[in-house]
Amino acid sequence: MKIIDAHVHTINSPDGHDTIKDILQNAKDKGFYYLATTDHLDLDLKECKYNKTPVAWNHIDLDKYYEEWKEASKDAGDIKFRFGIEAGFDPGANEAYLETFKKYPFDVVINSVHFVDHYDVYFLNPFIFRSKKKIYRHYLEKILASLDAPYEYDIVGHIGYVTRNAPYKDRSLRLADFKDLIDAILKKIIEKDKALEINTHHGILPAEEILQRYYELGGRRISFGSDSHRMDIGKDFEVVCAMAKRIGFTHFSVYTNHIPEEIEID
Ligand SMILES: [Zn+2]
Ligand SMILES: [Zn+2]
Repeated sequence: MKIIDAHVHTINSPDGHDTIKDILQNAKDKGFYYLATTDHLDLDLKECKYNKTPVAWNHIDLDKYYEEWKEASKDAGDIKFRFGIEAGFDPGANEAYLETFKKYPFDVVINSVHFVDHYDVYFLNPFIFRSKKKIYRHYLEKILASLDAPYEYDIVGHIGYVTRNAPYKDRSLRLADFKDLIDAILKKIIEKDKALEINTHHGILPAEEILQRYYELGGRRISFGSDSHRMDIGKDFEVVCAMAKRIGFTHFSVYTNHIPEEIEID
């Protein structure tokens, strides 16, 4: 089985703990085929002053990240080791992303939505004074808008992120509750030929019924990401392979210089 992981944070992310060197060694020990580091680039927070986090949040030093990645990549051996970024979407940051992306040769870009109604939904702030229905709808509307980002991206990150720390007994984001919106998102991912990420950081996102719906609508391009922040690379990869196969998917897409390669799921 070819083990892959296309969503990994290093110590260059403010919430990452592992050096690129250690991650690469871990991937070698585990016999990986493909690994992309994708640190947080949060121009949605840096450039859009209306977005806030309740804790101090440092921003990535891209020059340092790129230098460290280049140095580590000399020892990549047989692993397809790629340079990536997780770009937090906000329409107000589009120009800044366009400018930044000219400067670094990213192999792979994950397009993620973290901020909804001006707060990162990782924290409780946006859930106060809003119904579950309302905040989940705003989250999905922002994902739909993110798919039209004017800069190059390859993977649509962790759909369902809004549920991770939502303060509800039942946090699930159900297809039946937002059918039109979720269908519109999935259809646009297919139309734009992007990869829908299956993310295993906290449980599996998106929910299986959403992945099934994507398949039903004709979606075939998927990506795998552990979203590792602390030596979690490849987390639940086999579980995801079994689930993907059960639904009907046959391949994962991995990216080099934004060009997809199909990796058979066995
Ligand atoms: Zn994320
Ligand atoms: Zn991430």
